[in-house]
Amino acid sequence: MQHPHPYLTTRSHGFLPSPVRDVWEASMQPGVISLAGGNPDLSLAPLDWLADASSRLIRDRGHEVLQYSSGTGTTELRESIVELMAAEHIHADVAGIQVTAGSQMALDVVTKLLCEQGDTILVEDPTYVGALGIFGGAGLRVEHVPMDADGLVPEALRERIRHLAAQGRRPRMLYTIPNFQNPRGVTLAESRRPEIVEICRAAGIPIVEDNPYGMLAFEPRQLTSLHELDPENVVYLGSFSKVLAPGLRVGWATAPEWMRRPLQLASESTVICASPLSQALAADYIAHHDFRSIISRATAVYAKRAAALIGALEGRLPEGSTLTHPQGGFFSWVTLPEGWTTAELLDAAIYEKVVFVPGASFCAPGEGQRELRLAFSFESPDRLTEGARRLGLAFERTAASIAA
Ligand code: PMP
Repeated sequence: MQHPHPYLTTRSHGFLPSPVRDVWEASMQPGVISLAGGNPDLSLAPLDWLADASSRLIRDRGHEVLQYSSGTGTTELRESIVELMAAEHIHADVAGIQVTAGSQMALDVVTKLLCEQGDTILVEDPTYVGALGIFGGAGLRVEHVPMDADGLVPEALRERIRHLAAQGRRPRMLYTIPNFQNPRGVTLAESRRPEIVEICRAAGIPIVEDNPYGMLAFEPRQLTSLHELDPENVVYLGSFSKVLAPGLRVGWATAPEWMRRPLQLASESTVICASPLSQALAADYIAHHDFRSIISRATAVYAKRAAALIGALEGRLPEGSTLTHPQGGFFSWVTLPEGWTTAELLDAAIYEKVVFVPGASFCAPGEGQRELRLAFSFESPDRLTEGARRLGLAFERTAASIAA
C-alpha cells in the first residue's frame, strides 16, 4: 500500500473507494452485463425536453439561471418540492427546504452539523456505501444495527443504544433509508416506524431519513415518512437523481426548525448554491408535466426488470441462499450459504461476463463476506435474464472450487 503523504490529515484516509468503481473496468468490457451500478435508466428520462428546455432557459433567462443564486435554492423549485412531498403525504413548508447538489451533499452537510470527529453514529447493516464514505471522511465511529425483511429491527436498535450508553457513548444520529433500501432492497414495516422514531426521540438521537427511492414503489402503497411522524427530530433527504436525472445534481433536505439556519449557512459554504440551471430545469419540468404519472411509467419498467432478474435467479442460487424481493427501488440483496465468499464469486462472475457489487463494502468491517448487491435498474429484462444465467454459471464454477 502506498504510504500516505505526511501533509494529509488522518480524516483524509477515511474516504472510501467506491466499490462500483472497483468493478467499473470489468463492467466496461465488451459483452459484460452489469448488475453493479445503481444507475437510473436515462432512456426513461425526458432527454429531448431537457435539451430544448436548457436552450430555452439559457436564451430567455440566461442572466438568472447562469448567475449565482439563492443559497437555499430557488423559490420556484422549493415550491415544487413542497408539492411533490405533499403527494407523498409529507407536510413541508418552503422555508424548511434546503436545495442541495444531490442528496449526497445534503448528507455531507447534515453530518458536519450533527457530528464531531470521533463521534459514534448508527446506521443500518448493510447501508449505502456513499454514506459510509462521508462518515469515514468525517472520522466517525459507525455502528451497524441489524435489519431483517421488515427493515431496521427496533429491539436491536434499543439494545445497541443501551450497550453504547453503558460505554458512555451517545450516538449523534441514526442514518436510515426506510424505503426500498440501498443496498438491501427492503422497506421498513409501517408498524415499526413510530417505534423507531420514539426510540430515537427518547434517547436524544436525531434521525436522518434518506429517501431517494420512495417514489419508486412498484405498487401504490402508503409509506409513512419518519419526518412526518416527528418533524422536530428527523431530517428528511430527497433527490431528483432516481426520478429525473442524476447528472442534474439536484436534491434537498427538509430540516427541523432548529437546523434550518445552520444548514443554509453550511450549504452556502460548501457550494454557494446548487446549479440554478439544474434547479430551473427540475422546476420547469414539474410545472409542465404530470410528474407522478411519468414516475409511475418508469416504475412499471423497473418492476418488470426486478421480476425478470429475480425470476431468472430462482433455482440458480446455491442451496441455502436467500434473496430479497424488493417492492420498489433498484436493488436486491443475496446472502450465500456459509463457506461462500463473494470475492471469489466475483472472479468467476467476471469470467462469465457479469458483474455485481460484493456485500462487504456496505457492512461493518469483516462482515458481508457472503453477500452481494444486484441492481436491476439499468439493464433490459432480456439482459437481466441472461445476467442471472451467467451468475448461475459463476455459482457452479465457485461451488466446484469450494468443493475442491
Ligand atoms: N442516498 C442513497 C441511499 C443513494 O442510493 C444515493 C445514490 N446512489 C444517494 C443518497 C445520493 O444521491 P444523489 O444523486 O441525490 O446525490
